[in-house]
Amino acid sequence: MRIGVFVCHCGSNIAATVDCPSVAQAAKLFPDVVFASDTMYACSEPGQDAIIQAIKEHRLDGVVVASCSPRMHEPTFRRALERAGLNRYMLEMANIREHVSWIGKNKELNTVKATELVRIAAAKLRLNTPLYANQFDVTKRVLVIGGGVAGIQAALDCADAGIQVIMVERDTSIGGKMAKLDKTFPTVDCSSCILGPKMVDVAQHPNITLYAASEVEEISGYVGNFDVKVRRRATYVNWDACTGCGLCMEKCPSKKSYDAFNEGVAPTAAIGISFPQAIPKKASINAEFCMKLQKGKCGVCAKICPTKCIDFEQQDTIVSEKVGAIVAATGYDLFDWTVYNQYGGGRYPDVVTSLQYERMMNASGPTAGHIKRPSDGKEPKRVVFIQCVGSRDKAVDRPYCSGFCCMYTAKQAVLTKDHIPDSDSYVFYMDIRSPGKGYDEFTRRAQEQYGVQYVRGRVSMIYPKGDVLVVRGADTLAGTQVEVEADLVVLAVGIESSKGAPHLAEKLRISYDHYGFFMEAHPKLKPVETNTAGVYLAGCCQGPKDIPTSVGQGSAAAAKVLTLFAKDKLESDPQISRVNQNRCVGCLKCTMTCPFGAVKDVKDRAGNTKAEVVETVCQGCGICTVTCPHGAIQLQHFTDNQILAEVNALCQPEMEF
Ligand code: SF4
Ligand code: SF4
Repeated sequence: MRIGVFVCHCGSNIAATVDCPSVAQAAKLFPDVVFASDTMYACSEPGQDAIIQAIKEHRLDGVVVASCSPRMHEPTFRRALERAGLNRYMLEMANIREHVSWIGKNKELNTVKATELVRIAAAKLRLNTPLYANQFDVTKRVLVIGGGVAGIQAALDCADAGIQVIMVERDTSIGGKMAKLDKTFPTVDCSSCILGPKMVDVAQHPNITLYAASEVEEISGYVGNFDVKVRRRATYVNWDACTGCGLCMEKCPSKKSYDAFNEGVAPTAAIGISFPQAIPKKASINAEFCMKLQKGKCGVCAKICPTKCIDFEQQDTIVSEKVGAIVAATGYDLFDWTVYNQYGGGRYPDVVTSLQYERMMNASGPTAGHIKRPSDGKEPKRVVFIQCVGSRDKAVDRPYCSGFCCMYTAKQAVLTKDHIPDSDSYVFYMDIRSPGKGYDEFTRRAQEQYGVQYVRGRVSMIYPKGDVLVVRGADTLAGTQVEVEADLVVLAVGIESSKGAPHLAEKLRISYDHYGFFMEAHPKLKPVETNTAGVYLAGCCQGPKDIPTSVGQGSAAAAKVLTLFAKDKLESDPQISRVNQNRCVGCLKCTMTCPFGAVKDVKDRAGNTKAEVVETVCQGCGICTVTCPHGAIQLQHFTDNQILAEVNALCQPEMEF
């Protein structure tokens, strides 16, 4: 074999703490290495051209690139090999950046370690064989999980491009958090006026199938060919017949049901439509509060429903769909602020969350847009807003910034003045973060034009005094303690990953961070892709972001789906497991351990049971290879022999092999 080694400086990223020319020099002595050099940027065009030229000049049939993580540039170098006429899998990468230069300061030791990593890579490469990808068909349909603004945008963009979209929404209506907002910052335009038409488009689009009150139950398959099972929860109303007239909601005698859409500001009926612009506009029963379902009594809705669509016997159903790509847009949930005892922990009715306040200001909300104190229904004249409740606070394991609370607080303070001209608003803040277009100007307007008083400091406690609440905090700019008597306190509650996000991530086989937010494939270069091919992200499921960014991500995810579907055939990754039928004894331990169900049992000509890997399903994780007691199942390019060669190269560096 004729191996070429290329050691990258990565500017000073590697070269500052690794002697790259020495590594290249040492590599020349490794078995089968016929060419070695160092290069400033191996991934740059001149860097790739140098590799191509060396492959041709030195008749190389394998290449080691010592540079950054293969996550970053393995596809780049594979393409360079192909351009030089080599099989793309005759490449090995030694990660001397993340694994060496970025973690060690001692140049001498780093150089030794980098040399050893190159030695290991070359030893493995000697046992590589050319691999060839197979082609398979693509199902050009996409599943969008979540019907908030990000999911809606992704769905509409795909549907407008002619792609069939399956949208699954957990709630009984699409719209997400944006549907609950009164106005949006910094333009203060009506939220439902800009979201409503998009929701209607989803309902009317011939290419979109909407499953509301539904959840993804199971996902199997692979990029281009996912099999999805969707659980459609029982709503106890036949949606095919329901006309959304709302009579049931009016007549239902159980009026103490928790109103999730209105954030519990006021109770609602046990049956009903979550909000007037709901899509689909269908009634559903909250079983927990339905007297018929709980006690077998009542059934008024069934008697008065003009279309006889109430069905107390209705059960969940499962529907199966085939899709080629998936967009996760599951949004966020609000942090449970009641852990803050110093803010009353939920004991004071006049301490509300920002989203509850939003519903109180909204004309379609339970107070018809009149701001009233929950305790006595009076109009508040002094409103105190507290920012960063459950954000940037290590004490509650939420050290991250929720991104948009500064802006919606400014908006709510401005709107308070509009609703109650003789009111005063105070905002306790840590920093004002307003980096978007027109955002900083808006927070200034709140202060200068609307007289909102900003106090820089944390609130240490809230306590009742008569019929007001005293908000005690620090003014760190004045260096004093301040107390403000408030009629109403609004908490700018931070956001967290949506409930069940880690569970869904496991079904999608994507990563999630400590806080349950889904992980993108690369924080800068692949912000909407995941490490699972064919699964994309949009909106706050990936981390806090405002509406414009969520919409942008929805379109970006749709663009990725359309790029994937631009091809009629996809290529499988040949770095998968293969079974040596002569060695396989048919114990099927591999079948039981494969997390993707990629190993099936077959019969050989003599009728003996054997294992066989389904090429398109295998993800190349390698779990089966360590399970097989006979070494019959091997992962291409990670065979036992290759791993032993790596270990030998590491343990016996002075040995010639
Ligand atoms: S009365 Fe019947 S048709 Fe009307 S909203 Fe209720 S369930 Fe639907
Ligand atoms: S490598 Fe083995 S365990 Fe992993 S997906 Fe493929 S067949 Fe399943």
